[in-house]
Amino acid sequence: MTVLAYQDFLQTASQKLSDSHNIGRRNAVLVVNFERLAELDGVLGFAMVDEIIRKISWQLRDSLNPEDLVGVTGRYQISCLLVDLLTDAHAMLAAHKILRILMHPFVSGRRSIVLAARIGVAVSNRDDHTLDQLMSNASLAIRQARLEQEPIKLFVAEMEDPLLLQIDLWSDLGNAIETRELYLSYQPQISTTSGKIESTEALLRWNHPNRGPIRPDKLIQVAEGTELMSKLTLWVFHTALRECSEYRKAGLDAGVSINFSADDLRDPELPELVLQGLSLWGVPPGNVTVELTETAVMENHVGTLDTLHKLKDTGLRLAMDDFGTGYSSMARMLDLPLDEIKIDMVFVKHMTTRRTHDRIVDSMINLAHRLNLSVVAEGVEDFATYERLRALGCDMIQGYFIGKAMPLPELIEAVVNQSPKFLKMTLQDSADN
Ligand code: C2E
Ligand code: CA
Ligand code: CA
Repeated sequence: MTVLAYQDFLQTASQKLSDSHNIGRRNAVLVVNFERLAELDGVLGFAMVDEIIRKISWQLRDSLNPEDLVGVTGRYQISCLLVDLLTDAHAMLAAHKILRILMHPFVSGRRSIVLAARIGVAVSNRDDHTLDQLMSNASLAIRQARLEQEPIKLFVAEMEDPLLLQIDLWSDLGNAIETRELYLSYQPQISTTSGKIESTEALLRWNHPNRGPIRPDKLIQVAEGTELMSKLTLWVFHTALRECSEYRKAGLDAGVSINFSADDLRDPELPELVLQGLSLWGVPPGNVTVELTETAVMENHVGTLDTLHKLKDTGLRLAMDDFGTGYSSMARMLDLPLDEIKIDMVFVKHMTTRRTHDRIVDSMINLAHRLNLSVVAEGVEDFATYERLRALGCDMIQGYFIGKAMPLPELIEAVVNQSPKFLKMTLQDSADN
């Protein structure tokens, strides 16, 4: 019965784990992390902190069964292998017992120190759980405990996915920009007065070779905050302009709306890149709308407002996306060189059944018009909503009622075939359908 050093712990615990798997026993790994010790290094000195960890590891050793193993597996970390457990709950009981011990202040000379600890628990009840796997699962549980401000967390399979998925997707996304896995789909926006398609919104699609289609909001989340975001936006911008010029040649006299993220607005080179794209593809800037979310636009970053004005100077239009869901200050809104607001579908969805929603949409349309902004309503799924929005003076409509987003060839085909739904949609046509 001793406390093991890192390598000895790994070796002995691996051996013990495989022995006990052979006779069908249930085991668990507990990883105990001391988050405050890094600060104490500077205050008490390294030798003292090492001494604290050593003493605590002995206390834990004494509190567990003789068969269990305890090792110091990092400067601020102790790991335990619990063997031959009756149930998973016994692993949690052991974790609580350890936590109780650690709640007592640790006395060192004249000082008494409270050590904040977090414990991640990973139970093995399948034969294929190696020590390495259990240790990383317990570490993921600690990460989750930190996020939730909890002292103890049991690993569950769902914890693994988001993080691993993020890492995998991020590296795959870099390649996907170069290959043909990414493409854009275009969702028509029609005018309520003419019934014609005025613009389309370019929406990103990723058909992952192994995982299938990846939701665009998820994909943006993976790219955001990394250098991939500006690469991705530039790809979207160029592709959307090129394809827009193609559908214009095929006879669809419409503009295109492109989503930019909050990250993009922090890039001082963006306006110049946008200018280059516009001149390369020859789409008139007045037919190009950049959609920004309320959160991105309202962000108080020094460069954001400047970038927005420079973007506006290129001649393109600016739209505030998902209007009503973020937080807007009216004062800030007046500073922004906006052309359009897009009312979020949460308000549109229920407007024919809930009076308050209808009132909110009505007020948004009036407010926008008073500020000389045009209004697009998103998520219009039925004729009744379309008709009501038209009566309220909403300028443009987008939603499944008009059409879902479709890849370029499909859009062009609909145009060539003069699909009645997209090209000459009038109230009468819809009522007949
Ligand atoms: P968004 O900009 O609000 O896009 C509208 C979303 O609503 C799209 O989802 C669209 O397919 C969906 N939608 C349209 N009409 C209806 C309807 O009638 N009913 C319902 N239930 N949904 C409707 P999608 O394509 O999944 O995109 C999700 C989000 O991902 C977008 O929200 C946008 O925030 C982001 N996104 C997509 N493409 C890009 C891109 O190229 N760049 C950036 N930065 N973000 C993008
Ligand atoms: Ca949008
Ligand atoms: Ca939106």
